[in-house]
Amino acid sequence: MLVSQGVDAALAGVFGLLIGSFLNVVVYRKPVMMYRDWLFDAVGHLMTQGDGRSLWTRALGPASAVESRLTAAADEAVPVLEALAPFDLARPASRCGHCGQPVRWYRNIPLLSYLALGGRCGDCKARISPRYPIVEAVVGLLFALCGWRFGLTPIGALWAACAALLVCQFLIDLDTQYLPDDYNYLLLWLGLIGSALGWTGVPLASAVWGAVAGYLSLWLIYQLYLRITGKEGMGYGDFKLLAALGAWFGAEFLLAVVLVSSLVGAVVGGMLLVAGKLAHKDVPISFGPFLAGAGLVCLVAGPAQVMAWLPFAFPFRP
Ligand SMILES: [Zn+2]
Repeated sequence: MLVSQGVDAALAGVFGLLIGSFLNVVVYRKPVMMYRDWLFDAVGHLMTQGDGRSLWTRALGPASAVESRLTAAADEAVPVLEALAPFDLARPASRCGHCGQPVRWYRNIPLLSYLALGGRCGDCKARISPRYPIVEAVVGLLFALCGWRFGLTPIGALWAACAALLVCQFLIDLDTQYLPDDYNYLLLWLGLIGSALGWTGVPLASAVWGAVAGYLSLWLIYQLYLRITGKEGMGYGDFKLLAALGAWFGAEFLLAVVLVSSLVGAVVGGMLLVAGKLAHKDVPISFGPFLAGAGLVCLVAGPAQVMAWLPFAFPFRP
C-alpha cells in the first residue's frame, strides 16, 4: 500500500515538474496575450463598424472631428497589428531573455538543467532567475502530494489542476496585478463540477453557496471601501478568485481562506513597510497572491486543519 502510494507520488511529482516548467511559460506569456487581445479589441472598437457607424457615434451621437481622427489612427494601426508574428503559449519557441538563443530541449529539463548549468544560460552564461526552478519544484511537490493522497486517479488530477491554476494566478497577479478571467473561471467550474461529482468531498449546495459568498463578501468590502475612500481597494479578479475557492472548499470554510489570506497579506505588507518598499502609499498591493496562497495552504493542509490553527476563528468553526 505504502509502496504503491510512494510510486504514485513520485510519478505525479515528475509530471508536476514538467507542468511547473510549462507554467513558467504560461505566467510569462498569458499577460502578453491578454495585452494583445485588448489592443486588438481597442483598435477594433475605434474602427467603423459594418453599418458604417463607429462605437464613438453609437455612444455619443453625431460624428465629430475626434471620431474621424481616432478612426484614422485605428486604420493606421491595423496593418501593424496584422503583421505581428503569432504569439501564444506554444509560439514562438522559448529563448534566452539575454542573448535570444532558443533554449535547446536538453537544456530545458525541469530543475536538472538549472542545476547542471549552474543557474546560467548555456549559451551566453547570463544568470537565470532562481524563480524558474523554484516554481518547478513547488508544482512538483504539490502534484506529488495529490498523487500521494488520491493516487493516479481523476480525483488526484482534479486537485493537481487546482494547485496548478492557483500557482498560475499567484504569479501572474504578483507580476502584473491582473488575475486572468480564463483561469479564475476554469478554477470555479472545476470546483463546482468536482463537487457535483463528489470528488472534492464538498456537498454541491456548500460549493454553490461558497462561490456566492466568496464573490459577494469581497464585492461588498470593495463597494464600502470605494464609498468611504473613493479608491478601489481591489479588483474584480479578486472576487472571482475567492468565489472559485468557495466552490472548492465550501461555504463553511470560506472564512479559513479569508483569514489566512489576510494574515499572509498583513505579514507581507508589514515586511514591505519595514523594508521601505511601500514608499508610495497609493501603489496598490494586489490581494490575488494572498488569496491564491491561502487556497494553496488550504489545499495542502485541509481547510479544517487551517481553522484549527486559528484559535480566534473558534466561534465560526463548523
Ligand atoms: Zn543566453
